[in-house]
Amino acid sequence: MNLQLCNVSFSYNHKKVFSDLSVDFSDGKLIAVGGNNGSGKSTLLKLIAGILEPACGQIFIDDREYKQLGRRNLAQKISYVPQFIETAFDLQVIDFLTMTAERRQPFSKKELFEKAYTALERVGIEDFAQRNINELSGGERQKVLIANALSQNAPLMLLDEPVSHLDWSSQIEIFKLLREIVTDENCKIIVIAHDINLIAMYCSHVLLMKNGEVVTYGKTSEILEPQVIQNVFDLKVRNVDNYFMPIA
Ligand code: ADP
Repeated sequence: MNLQLCNVSFSYNHKKVFSDLSVDFSDGKLIAVGGNNGSGKSTLLKLIAGILEPACGQIFIDDREYKQLGRRNLAQKISYVPQFIETAFDLQVIDFLTMTAERRQPFSKKELFEKAYTALERVGIEDFAQRNINELSGGERQKVLIANALSQNAPLMLLDEPVSHLDWSSQIEIFKLLREIVTDENCKIIVIAHDINLIAMYCSHVLLMKNGEVVTYGKTSEILEPQVIQNVFDLKVRNVDNYFMPIA
C-alpha cells in the first residue's frame, strides 16, 4: 500500500502543530513513530486516520487523495486503535468486535461473527469471546483492540501507543504479534512507540519526530544510531550489542 503526506499543515485552534510536513510511508510494513511527548505523533496518526483534516496539503492512499475517497472508502482502508477506549456499559468481547465492524462494513450477521472469531483466533484470544471487556487486564484488552482492528480487514492499521500500560513481557508479546501480522497478512501497521529497543528489534521502518517536524524516516537498521537518538530525544545513548543504553 502506498501512503503519502504532502506538505501537510495542521493547527489546533491557534496552536500550530505541523507546517509543510511531507513523508512517504509507501515502502514500510511495520512502521514505528517515535519522538518526545508533544512532538506530534498522535496528531499525525489522527490525520492519517482521517479523524482530523489538514488545513493545507494532501494525504494520498494508493495514489488517491483522501478527499476523493470519501469517509466510507477511507473507513474500509484504515483501522485506528486509539490510546484508550471506554466502554461505559458491560459488553462481551465478541459483541464489541461485531458492533464495531457492523458500523463500517455492510456484512451479514453471520459474516461479522466469522470475521470476528477469525481475528480473535489470529491473536490467540478466542477464549475471550464471551468475556466482559471491562473485566480484562490491560494486556488482554490491548489484544482485543488489535483483534478488533484486524477483524475490519483494513490494509492499514494505526495503533496509538498500544503497549504504554503493559508489563515488559506483554509489550514484547504485542510487538511480536504485530510483526507476525504484517508478515502473514497483506497489511501495513503504523504504531506509536516509546521504547527505542522494541522499535529496533521489531519494526522494519521508523519515523522520528521533534517539535512537529520529521527528523528522519527510513529503515530502522539504517536510521537508529546514537547521534540521531540524542538529537531526537535529547538523551545521550550508546550502542551495546545493538541495544541502546542511556549514558548515566
Ligand atoms: P504526541 O503524540 O507526540 O505526544 P500530540 O500530537 O498529542 O503529540 O500533540 C502535539 C501538540 O499538539 C502538543 O503541543 C499538544 O499540546 C497539542 N495538542 C494535542 N491535542 C490537542 C488538542 N486537542 N487541542 C489543542 N492542542 C492539542
